[in-house]
Formats: sequence, structure tokens, C-alpha cells
Amino acid sequence: MIKIEHIGIAVKNLDEANKIYKKLLGTGSYKTEAVESENVMTSFFKVGENKIELLEATSDQSAIHKFIEKRGEGIHHIAFDVSDIYLEMERLKNEGFILLNEIPKIGADNKLVCFVHPKNTTGVLIELCQSKNQ
Ligand code: ZN
Repeated sequence: MIKIEHIGIAVKNLDEANKIYKKLLGTGSYKTEAVESENVMTSFFKVGENKIELLEATSDQSAIHKFIEKRGEGIHHIAFDVSDIYLEMERLKNEGFILLNEIPKIGADNKLVCFVHPKNTTGVLIELCQSKNQ
């Protein structure tokens, strides 16, 4: 794994959260993006070379909706940048981690992503992500 690519935060209301994070970070969101496959609307902020991803559910079927129902707003996942997502997925599977998708999905930011079940990661949902042009 190369570095922490971003931290995902589940929010109830993206507009409100955008205002809060703009105040907090001193700079506004540089993009918003709908991720159809996850039923979420996302908003990204840059902090140095790291990013914060705010996620709002766009449907009751969204994992973000379920997360907020259960645990309220807060940190939802930590995403790690990887150079070869297929290789990392294989490696983690062999280490006994549970992958939530067997093949990489198209995530936000035009990346290939795979989620790792929090059950075996001390309760933290992990996202692997690889830039498609890497
Ligand atoms: Zn993410």
C-alpha cells in the first residue's frame, strides 16, 4: 500500500457538511460526484496530499444510509492508495481478510476500488483504491 488516499466520512446532509468542512479546512470542496454503484453523492476536499471524502446516501439502499441509521454520522472508511489492486486483493484474501467485492468496482474519482470487511480489521472499513491511469 502506498499511502492513505482519503478518509471517508458519512454525513446526513452534504450541503451542510460541505459548509462545516469548508470552515474547518479553510478551503472549499474541489468537486462533487455521484457514485451510482454505491447510491451516494460525494464531495472531496484536499488537505495537503490527502483527501477527505464526504458521503451522503441518495437512497435507502445505500450502505451510507444503513451506516448512519446504525452508528450516526462519522468516519466511515479509510482508503489506501495501491499500485496494483488485483495483487493487493489477492494478498489480503490470502491473509484471511474478507473482500466485499470480488472484482474491483469503479468508485469515485475514477478509481478502481475494493472494500475490505471491518470484521477482520478492528472495526474499520478499508477501501483499496487504484487510479485507473496508474
Ligand atoms: Zn472512499
